[in-house]
Amino acid sequence: MTVSAQQEKELLERVPTGLLINGEWVDASSGNTFPVYDPATGKELLRLQDGGSEDALKALAAADEVQAEWALTAPRERAEILRRAFDLVQERAEDFALLMTLEMGKPLAESRGEVNYGGEFLRWFSEETVRHYGRFGTTPEGNLSMIVRHKPVGPSLLVTPWNFPLAMATRKVAPAVAAGATMVLKPAQLTPLTSQYFAQTMLDAGLPAGVLNVVSGSSASKISGPLMKDSRLRKISFTGSTPVGRRLLADASENVLRTSMELGGNAPFIVFDDADIDAAVEGAMAAKLRNMGEACTAANRILVHEDVAEEFNTKFAEAMRARKVGRGTEADVNVGPIIDENAREDVHGLVTEAVEAGAEVVTGGKKVDGDGYFYEPTILSVLENSPILAQEIFGPVAPVVQFKDEDHAIRLANASEYGLAAYMYTKDHNRALRVADQIEFGLIGFNAGVISNAAAPFGGVKQSGMGREGGTEGIAEYTSVQYIGMPNP
Ligand code: NAD
Repeated sequence: MTVSAQQEKELLERVPTGLLINGEWVDASSGNTFPVYDPATGKELLRLQDGGSEDALKALAAADEVQAEWALTAPRERAEILRRAFDLVQERAEDFALLMTLEMGKPLAESRGEVNYGGEFLRWFSEETVRHYGRFGTTPEGNLSMIVRHKPVGPSLLVTPWNFPLAMATRKVAPAVAAGATMVLKPAQLTPLTSQYFAQTMLDAGLPAGVLNVVSGSSASKISGPLMKDSRLRKISFTGSTPVGRRLLADASENVLRTSMELGGNAPFIVFDDADIDAAVEGAMAAKLRNMGEACTAANRILVHEDVAEEFNTKFAEAMRARKVGRGTEADVNVGPIIDENAREDVHGLVTEAVEAGAEVVTGGKKVDGDGYFYEPTILSVLENSPILAQEIFGPVAPVVQFKDEDHAIRLANASEYGLAAYMYTKDHNRALRVADQIEFGLIGFNAGVISNAAAPFGGVKQSGMGREGGTEGIAEYTSVQYIGMPNP
């Protein structure tokens, strides 16, 4: 069912527009506001208070002020806050879904999927909070008892990207709450509305004032810059592009901050000659077109064994052509717009460059005329030296390249500075493990095109970053280890 303009208006009126500092929604000290747009229409949705350096420091002061007390709360208390937040996100699921579609563009069905996925971090970490044990033992010499404890890391800066507005926030906030760390969240300036609404949901769930502070703003570095220089900050958790991650890592060295970096990806999607081709096409559609290809885990390099290339390509092209492009609030749409005109221009530039280098356009390859930043679902048939294979595409464009044998596929898969997600389709389980041993990626989808889950560790190697979010590993990012040694009686 298509969403009415009245429904959109009523929801936007309920989004807090201020900065969340010490439990209160307040105005920016500059008195300025900044706009948030709908990428499907190019029109302004709402204006938010434009946080800057002074506001960021107030937010850090609030986080620092309550850190000691928050660290001592009973794990059960923190677990129950997260559980209530999970329940509230479920109750407000349609609000969250519509907000994401409005500010980010993804079709409503996908936004609902993100509400489920993003909400699960609250439930998973609620369950983990009371089971985050340290250890106790005796030294090998028998003279000392060892107590190993996990303490909250301290006030943490959380910086999120625009592509998964809810999940990127819950994936950081939930483990920080579980660990007992306090936070300053800086949402992406292109899609901050979901984070604003989520932060209010955390307050409604009973999160004490000052534990989560939110500073949205039009200039990321004005917010992060002074915080990174302030010794009260103990950690940065960043999700975004590799160039920005690199800069923040350099800044983090000044105060020797703990860092978690979830950066870019350039996922290979390998279809072996024994694969179930229909399943591989379905997996490739999900891995490529989910979020309009604007995902760090998006399949960017479709590698197909030459013996099955014709069948795969024919079926893949049919599936791509069947997709309906349009505003995500409209019924039956399954591909939304690209986030903005610059990003659409970048995607089209990559396609043009690939074609100039010899790629054949199998389907798509053009911007869609009219309002909004739509791009046709595209398949390119390319050679293995095509420039597009070296880039993170961040759009609905699938370059397909053929390989001859397993070693060739492994070589192509590893030919990237990134190491986040990889996918492979084969009926041979031994081969899957053999290939997994030889490819350098943090996440592997084996006969599956979407594998992210709150209970599983998410993160990459090489220039895709360091640290893990989700799973039992996720909470460790927000704790520091303390060892107490004492003589045995
Ligand atoms: P981006 O790096 O431009 O921005 C990410 C965040 O960093 C935003 O909040 C932005 O405002 C902020 N930022 C930008 N410049 C900054 C600066 N100088 N100092 C401090 N903060 C700054 O990335 P994006 O365009 O929002 O997101 C797309 C990128 O994110 C892609 O590269 C994608 O692969 C990556 N991503 C990675 C993961 C993952 O888990 N590995 C998940 C989603 C997206």
